[in-house]
Amino acid sequence: MKKFIPFILALFLCLSCKNENNSEEVAKADDNSEMTTEKPEFAIIIHGGAGTILKKNMTSEKEAAYKAKLEEAIRVGYNVLKNGGSSLDAVTKTINIMEDSPLFNAGKGAVFTNAETNELDASIMDGKTLNAGASAGTTNVKYPIDLARAIMDKSQHVMMAGSGAEKFAQEQGLEIVDPTYFYTERRFNSLQNAKKREQVELDHDDKVSFYDEDIKDYKFGTVGCAALDKNGNLAAGTSTGGMTNKRWGRVGDAPIIGSGTYANNATCAVSSTGWGEFFIRAQVAHDISALMDYKGLSLKDAAKKVINKVGDLGGDGGIVAVDKDGNMVAEFNTAGMYRATMNDKGELVIGIYEQ
Ligand code: ASP
Repeated sequence: MKKFIPFILALFLCLSCKNENNSEEVAKADDNSEMTTEKPEFAIIIHGGAGTILKKNMTSEKEAAYKAKLEEAIRVGYNVLKNGGSSLDAVTKTINIMEDSPLFNAGKGAVFTNAETNELDASIMDGKTLNAGASAGTTNVKYPIDLARAIMDKSQHVMMAGSGAEKFAQEQGLEIVDPTYFYTERRFNSLQNAKKREQVELDHDDKVSFYDEDIKDYKFGTVGCAALDKNGNLAAGTSTGGMTNKRWGRVGDAPIIGSGTYANNATCAVSSTGWGEFFIRAQVAHDISALMDYKGLSLKDAAKKVINKVGDLGGDGGIVAVDKDGNMVAEFNTAGMYRATMNDKGELVIGIYEQ
């Protein structure tokens, strides 16, 4: 037996050397991957609507006000993510800031319906579970994105509309306001202008083009957010007042999962803004994810392709999105889109016009 002892010792030493080498290799691989891959720990992108936003029509005060609000909103979500919070919380809290601002067509500042009411739509999606929540046509819920979130988290349904959704909001203890809370002079005037234009068309026996060039632009200002958190979970959300002069309980793309909002940890998280009818028909948000999933397209290529499809159908608007690797994209076929991004280094980029 004794004569085997040196041999057993040698074998033991050799095996432990191998283990050390292996662990060193793993450590090196980790170091390398940190050096070579640029995957950020987290990322956040927002929009405040797309449209004919031209520098020549913008005052420097207005531009500064939009930039300040976009920055305020995205910093809220950034801090949630930086502190290890979830992408769902980042999306919800970021959108709350924009819902509070009359600059945007969401929450306070929502556009008016033909009946001079404000009917708000919102949705949110969790990329980890593919769970989702959406509300349509509510008139007294202060933060529609909170209602969408409550529908996702606290009910067995995905979508609720009108008085039922409002009742649920009340039962959940969400903030309820008098419908007049949503009144803003600017949006009310937009409705009056839209109605006048419609009357002129009727008087001239023209076919009423409800969404003529000018009216189209009254819708812009929907808000949305897409985020990736430190746990690799994606989420997206969208909130809007819809389109000025909308009738008959019209619902746009914003609360439609797969059109206005979509998130899937395997691909990306997307929030849309634009002419909702076309975004529903093109299934914009899900189509981007599907192109990445089934065809292996990059987020950028998928987003371009789908926005081109919207354009081919005759629609306009844009999307913001982040993929599972933290790549962020803002794609639109309008003159501008209010937008901002922040990466895990805290670098902020704000855009309004086409680059
Ligand atoms: N997509 C929204 C809707 O059609 C409007 C917008 O994004 O500006 O209701």
